[in-house]
Amino acid sequence: MIRFTGVSKFYGDFQVLKSVDFEAMSGERIVVCGPSGSGKSTLIRCINGLESYEQGEITVDGQRLGKDAAALRKVRNQVGMVFQQFNLFPHLTVLENLTLGPIRARKMSSGEARDLAMRYLERVRIPEQADKYPRQLSGGQQQRVAIARSLCMEPRIMLFDEPTSALDPEMITEVLDVMVELAGTGMTMIVVTHEMGFARKVADRMVFMDHGEIVETAAPGEFFTAPKSQRCRDFLDKIL
Ligand code: ADP
Ligand code: MG
Repeated sequence: MIRFTGVSKFYGDFQVLKSVDFEAMSGERIVVCGPSGSGKSTLIRCINGLESYEQGEITVDGQRLGKDAAALRKVRNQVGMVFQQFNLFPHLTVLENLTLGPIRARKMSSGEARDLAMRYLERVRIPEQADKYPRQLSGGQQQRVAIARSLCMEPRIMLFDEPTSALDPEMITEVLDVMVELAGTGMTMIVVTHEMGFARKVADRMVFMDHGEIVETAAPGEFFTAPKSQRCRDFLDKIL
């Protein structure tokens, strides 16, 4: 579903991705971890073309991500993304946040879009918040709205970039629970997170990044009990 071959990316002289090889199969759930500044956000932002790259090749569902604007559009339609900072439209209600994409990009009628939105709000367990504005919700509720909004575009891949890092501790579980449920539907998911309980529960594969490289990739059982590299052991010692 996703393939990176020798992908390098630079910010000026600074190389943020160093010849990255990476693959995700359809339905696979991958958790990406690593120190701050190691290139995790850059890696997943490349998957939906939010970042360009200088060397190598990225293909998503058979589309090569490069200069071709039509291919980029196709990929973006299939890839949903959830950010640390929710990124909801503050001047729109929850329901309007959810129906905007389906109406504009998927050309749904407002009635159809509304039904779809309510279905996904039920999935994330906050249908009663439909008419509120984002600022009236807790952080955990806002993040669940952001997840529902992405799902309304019916993507084939969901990317999460530290979705619980901005949340108060008591709200982390309600968001992770929704993500665990989503994992159960067979969605292809790439999740940057340091929530290792979540990783153990849902990850098919762990990816550890450091200094722009994928240093290690392994099944969670092996990753947590017998990390191969010293860098990975040091990192796990700090966060576990
Ligand atoms: P992570 O998500 O693992 O914390 P990022 O992918 O955000 O790492 O960033 C990796 C490195 O690239 C960091 O050192 C960061 O400072 C640098 N970086 C990220 N975005 C930019 C940018 N737009 N311009 C210059 N450097 C950047
Ligand atoms: Mg990041």
